[in-house]
Amino acid sequence: ADIYAPARENAKGWDLHAQTDLDLIDTQRGKFRSRRWTAEALMVAKAEGGQPKAIKNPALPEDQVGDVVWATSRDVSQAVSDAKPWQATAEERAQILRRASNLYEENFGELFAVLAREAGKTPLDGVAELREAVDFLRYYANRGLELEREARGIFACISPWNFPLAIFTGQIAAALAAGNAVVAKPAEQTPLTACVAVRLLHEAGVPTSALQLLPGLGKTVGAALVSDPRISGVCFTGSTATALSINKAMADNADPTAPLIAETGGLNAMIVDSTALPEQAVADVIASAFQSAGQRCSALRMLYLQRDVADTFLKMLYGAMDELTVGDPWRHATDVGPVIDQSAQSQILDYITDADRAGRVLKDVAAPSTGTYVKPTVIEVSGIADLTREVFGPVLHIAMFEAEELDDVVADINATGYGLTFGIHSRIDDRIEAVTRQLTVGNIYVNRNQIGAVVGSQPFGGEGLSGTGPKAGGPRYVAKFTRSEAEPVSS
Ligand code: GLU
Repeated sequence: ADIYAPARENAKGWDLHAQTDLDLIDTQRGKFRSRRWTAEALMVAKAEGGQPKAIKNPALPEDQVGDVVWATSRDVSQAVSDAKPWQATAEERAQILRRASNLYEENFGELFAVLAREAGKTPLDGVAELREAVDFLRYYANRGLELEREARGIFACISPWNFPLAIFTGQIAAALAAGNAVVAKPAEQTPLTACVAVRLLHEAGVPTSALQLLPGLGKTVGAALVSDPRISGVCFTGSTATALSINKAMADNADPTAPLIAETGGLNAMIVDSTALPEQAVADVIASAFQSAGQRCSALRMLYLQRDVADTFLKMLYGAMDELTVGDPWRHATDVGPVIDQSAQSQILDYITDADRAGRVLKDVAAPSTGTYVKPTVIEVSGIADLTREVFGPVLHIAMFEAEELDDVVADINATGYGLTFGIHSRIDDRIEAVTRQLTVGNIYVNRNQIGAVVGSQPFGGEGLSGTGPKAGGPRYVAKFTRSEAEPVSS
């Protein structure tokens, strides 16, 4: 595990940027309030036919953000035929990726607007996401300069809707920095953000043969892409179940060494013991569980609270929850925006309804009734073993523990098989040391929140069912997109 102890220095620098950017938002985003974006398949051979599908704003169903024509499996085959590894020196590639990072910053207003309207990003989330995307471009551009190995060939990059700009850009930038060609399939919910990003990457100088965008459905485009034997590797962020099926689909690949680089799900826990500073722990629980409406792989799902302090802590937590503004992400005051779409909303609501029937809902707060909102909700459970699946929304589970049960808590967390993020709030150094040593988790956060890993300083990735590594935003990531000397090109 990588352990990140109070990293307030990062948070501070970030807040300063965020403040400046928030002032900019007002002047910039108005321009894009009613813009409609069109995502055609940006291939050399364009997708033929097909009915355009309307992409709607999750917060405001009457706002049509744009439309998209899905690529087909035939387009996949054509795109792979057209793909050409990027024939430029490492220095030229780095320069172009840096130029792209500058273009992202210059086009802040448009990117911010499409993130808010297509993905429901709040101002803080939108700014943070844009900064992360810029960081990925610059960081991977630099790592590409350190490589002494050659590109693998053609990478399929399959990215999620929860970071439709940052993760989308990060995967592509890493593959390109190493000199590969990329065929990118963005999440079905967020093709328009991907489209704006690819436009900027092409404008910066990435050749169209080195970067093609195929907006499409996972079951058609995604499936055809990962099972195409000419693909030299797959970079995927999404569910553990999908990663497993990609792994199977790659079994017949012409290159038996073609890697799957996957970042997947988690059941992330935090332990708050009786020595924690309650004000800080409450603020960090709120951020970890409810920021981005809980739609982060890193988000806190399971809070273990030492029983001695539970009454005081919960009173403060519920008070802080009452202060949360759930609503339109277009407004500065909003803390929690909508979840991504109706299907996500109804799955989360069904889960909450079941818990409610069982008398396990301890607390929720108000949310608007139109738009795909979910009330931030606290559900009581007896432990992490009660969590049957990752609920990807603003739902926090809480269980109490006694001091002597700490080892069992740690064993239960390990027993889930997942290991993405973990948080601990405690003022006892020996305890922090013992707990973090026993856990098999990728990113451990001590006395701070457990979301928002920073590119370069906090590489992000999980263990076990949570991912393959190497960590995104870390020093070994780009090298994974190259061929080592032990792996000759298959004929
Ligand atoms: N890197 C993000 C974070 O640290 C999470 C990425 C994800 O949700 O996939 O919060």
